[in-house]
Amino acid sequence: MAERVLGGRRAVVTGSNSGIGLGIARSLAEAGADVVLNSFTDRDEDHALARDLAAEFGVTARYIAADMSRAEDCRRLVEEAGGCDILVNNAGIQHVAPIDEFPVERWDQIIAINLSSAFHGTAAALPGMRERGWGRVVNIASAHGLTASPYKSAYVAAKHGVVGLTKVTALECAGQGITCNAICPGYVLTPIVEKQIPDQMKTHGMSREDVIAKVMLARQPSGQFATVEQMGGTAVFLCSEAAAQITGTTISVDGGWTAL
Ligand code: NAD
Repeated sequence: MAERVLGGRRAVVTGSNSGIGLGIARSLAEAGADVVLNSFTDRDEDHALARDLAAEFGVTARYIAADMSRAEDCRRLVEEAGGCDILVNNAGIQHVAPIDEFPVERWDQIIAINLSSAFHGTAAALPGMRERGWGRVVNIASAHGLTASPYKSAYVAAKHGVVGLTKVTALECAGQGITCNAICPGYVLTPIVEKQIPDQMKTHGMSREDVIAKVMLARQPSGQFATVEQMGGTAVFLCSEAAAQITGTTISVDGGWTAL
C-alpha cells in the first residue's frame, strides 16, 4: 500500500464514476484521503463505487449526485461534502463538429461542464481551504488546453479557459497554503475517447486499430495511451508537500504531444 501522505484530507472529485476521475479518486484514496465521488446519474452502482473504494483503501468515501452543467449543483456538491481540502475539477464531455455546424446547445453544455463547473466548484471550496490554511485545486485540462484540433471548438475553448482559470486561482491564493494547477492529459483510453472511435472510423474509412494508431496516437509521439493511474499519481504528487510551491502551471501527461 502507498504511503498515506493525504491521511486526514477530504477530496471532492467531479465526474468520478468512470475514467480519469475515478482513477484519480482511487489514487487519492490509496494515499489516505477521504473521497467524494460525483456524477449526475445517481445509480446504485455509483453508490457502490464509493462503498468499494472505502473498503479497499480504508478511507471514508461517499457518492454525491450533482449535475456539473448547473451552477447551483456545482456549489451544492462542495457544501454537501462539508467542504474539501482537495478539489479535482474533472467532469467533462466532448462533441466534434465544424464550427458552422456545431449545435449551440452542445457548445453551451461543454462550456458549462468543462469550464464553468470548475469556476463554481473552486468558488465554493476556497473559503474553507483559506480557513484551514491548506488546499489543492487540481483542474483536469487537456493537451487541448495548450494546442488545438479542428472540429473541437467548444472543447478546445473550454480547456484553454481552464488553463487561464488555473492561473488566476493560483494568483488569488498565493501565499495562503493553497495551490492550483492543471493536469493536461494526452489521449487516455476512457469512455470519452471510446465514443469517438466509431465516428473517426466512419470519417476516415479506417479500422479501429488504424484510427487508434494513425489518427489518435499520431499526435502522441510515445505511440501509447496515457493511463488513469498516471493521472492519479500526478494528482497525488500535486497534493503532496513536494508540490507546495508548484502553482498556476500545467503538467502535461501526454507522451510528448505538446513537445511537437
Ligand atoms: P469519461 O467520459 O470517462 O468521464 C467523464 C466524467 O464526467 C464521467 O464520470 C461522467 O459521469 C462525468 N460527467 C459528464 N457530464 C457530467 C455532468 N453534467 N455532471 C457531473 N458529471 C458529469 O471521460 P474521461 O476521459 O475520464 O474524462 C475526464 C476528464 O479528462 C474530462 O474533463 C476530459 O476532458 C479530460 N481529458 C480526457 C482525455 C482522454 O483522452 N480521455 C484527455 C484529456 C483530457
